[in-house]
Amino acid sequence: MLEHYVAGAWRTPADEGVALLDATTGEPVARVSTEPVQAVDALDHARTVGGPALRALTFHERAGVLKRLGTHLLEVKEEFAELSFATGATRTDAVVDVDGGFGTLLAYAARGRRELPEGNVLLDGPVEALSRGGTFVGRHVMTPLLGAAVQVNAYNFPVWGLLEKLAPAFLAGVPSVVKPASRTAYLTEAVVRRIVASGLLPEGSLQLLVGGSRGLVDALGSQDLLGFTGSAATARTLRAHPAVVERSLRFNAEADSLNSAVLGPDAGPGTPEFDLFVREVVRETTAKAGQKCTAVRRAFVPRAHLDAASEALRAALAAVVVGDPRDPATGMGALVSTAQRDDVRAVVARLRAGGTVVSGDPDRDLPGFPRGAFLSPLLLRYDDAGFDAVHDLEPFGPVVGLLPYETAPEVVALMARGQGSLVASVVSHDPSFVREVVLGAAAHHGRLHVLDRDDAGESTGHGAPLPHLVHGGPGRAGGGEELGGMRGVLHHLQRTAVQASPDMLTAITGVYTTGAARVETGVHPFRKAMSELSIGDTVVTAAREVTEADVAHFAAFTGDTFYAHTDPEAAAANPLFGGIVAHGYLVLSLAAGLFVDPAPGPVLANTGLDRLRFTKPVKPGDSIRAVLTCAAKTPRTPEQGEVRWDVQVLDQNDVAVATYELLTMVSARPR
Ligand code: NAP
Repeated sequence: MLEHYVAGAWRTPADEGVALLDATTGEPVARVSTEPVQAVDALDHARTVGGPALRALTFHERAGVLKRLGTHLLEVKEEFAELSFATGATRTDAVVDVDGGFGTLLAYAARGRRELPEGNVLLDGPVEALSRGGTFVGRHVMTPLLGAAVQVNAYNFPVWGLLEKLAPAFLAGVPSVVKPASRTAYLTEAVVRRIVASGLLPEGSLQLLVGGSRGLVDALGSQDLLGFTGSAATARTLRAHPAVVERSLRFNAEADSLNSAVLGPDAGPGTPEFDLFVREVVRETTAKAGQKCTAVRRAFVPRAHLDAASEALRAALAAVVVGDPRDPATGMGALVSTAQRDDVRAVVARLRAGGTVVSGDPDRDLPGFPRGAFLSPLLLRYDDAGFDAVHDLEPFGPVVGLLPYETAPEVVALMARGQGSLVASVVSHDPSFVREVVLGAAAHHGRLHVLDRDDAGESTGHGAPLPHLVHGGPGRAGGGEELGGMRGVLHHLQRTAVQASPDMLTAITGVYTTGAARVETGVHPFRKAMSELSIGDTVVTAAREVTEADVAHFAAFTGDTFYAHTDPEAAAANPLFGGIVAHGYLVLSLAAGLFVDPAPGPVLANTGLDRLRFTKPVKPGDSIRAVLTCAAKTPRTPEQGEVRWDVQVLDQNDVAVATYELLTMVSARPR
């Protein structure tokens, strides 16, 4: 009997539940409850224990936990092989679900350390000037929502689905309450057991509810989030749920999708793109026995290539070995259950009304597996691409429709009849065709994959959502966005505009705001290690006159002899300068000469500049000085970290001529 993990303990449901059967043998694997889940207890624990525990950690500490967890799970991944086979997945399918899930934890860990600050507050955008005198400014800050991220997942990715939602929520500081789809909840439960046993996650940051979903959404409050993956029909029910509507709950849906693959007119038989198209469509039809939200359901080819494409796909699909997923020779395993197979057969019966079955037999069972949920891969050919059902019905199994088109605008219009899709592939080596289709279809898609001879060797494929790129799609696909690097984290944070003085904003955000009090301690800040530096530590340099000789020397030395620095007559005619001006890079170099403290010390390297602006031309005779202030500190390793400096280069009238943020690597401790 699968158990809930709630409030730090495993709880056995009171009912008998229903049996979940092995997709191949029909043997029982587990029982799952059908009673309402214990949502109130779990939500209460998440809000009062999990959330505070997560928010006590910084972004970097949370990233560290994810890294340790991902590494641990990869070490024990073989534990999950047998349960993964029970779902009907082959070993290759399991790599996407199991290894892909663990890899997503590691990807989020790495990005979190690299892209998030060391702290709890994320700043969004620059300081906004709101007043003439500079005493009243604004900035957007992002902080974690105080509720729970309730994650309702689909059956087809029991591990990846769990972890691709957990990782961004965890990094954001929001606890997860996971409700896997009942049909494969045994695999999710096994992974959660291993996570709990590892002791790596703070208490309350992950809870599991298995079985019936009644009451789950009613219990949600305005600080909770609801993340859903599953069918468009369930997405519609949840979106219209009174709790979601009345409490303006953040709701993200990843639903079903009639994804396309388009063969370009240039890509006839004999071209590399033709072969790539066939390979991609076959892979997408047979991976996970077609039970992938991203699977290609509609393959569009120029009418001139319809016969050739039909024959090539028929032959390739017929060659796929369907059988026991435990057998390494098997190319395609079983669907999750015989009920799911029967659902697919029922959809295929409706799809056949407008097309003909070119490959596979929808009614044939696999000999030797009387209780197995097997189906042969099916290719349906439509000579009339206008047949409604193929643009409307999702056969969630190994089924693909082949449809002809004549022109790029026509195929764009046909793709749009899916009413919003997760992904489409355009397979062509013709840039003008690809551009027309990509720009025409983009508004209907969350991701577009362009495949040709140049990128095929390294392409990650049509069907693979990546942690770095958004996963989701408009309209029927749910209208949501997951993953996408930090975008997935931001979804769990509230953006708040804070208006205050520069001093107050510095105190609130922990990052120096230009205009706030600077602290001159008498010790050059470049002589301080990370541990000794304070936000606001400043050095104000002496002034230096910029001479004609400086400008001429810099021009000759660097080879930058742009006329504004070397030709008095031409420079005088320049509407912005009216005479010779110093190079911007000379101003930067002179500023560095003014503020650098040269002896070996804790500063290890200059690693870059951000937001550089030359705000006023510097002319020979002007005198400049620099004001350098410690703005933010971000540890990168135990030994060193990044210090961000606010730099203002001022002229003799205290008017800024250049402003920027300087980045340096600095020792963590005094050297
Ligand atoms: P489903 O029947 O819609 O179920 C999805 C999840 O919702 C399950 O956990 C289910 O629980 C739960 N659920 C059902 N009714 C609910 C309700 N009234 N309140 C709260 N939760 C409820 O979908 P599925 O059959 O598992 O998955 C297949 C579908 O998912 C396909 O259509 C596929 O395209 C889509 N999918 C989309 C993506 C994507 O990222 N866009 C990814 C994978 C799959 P029970 O299992 O306990 O009923």
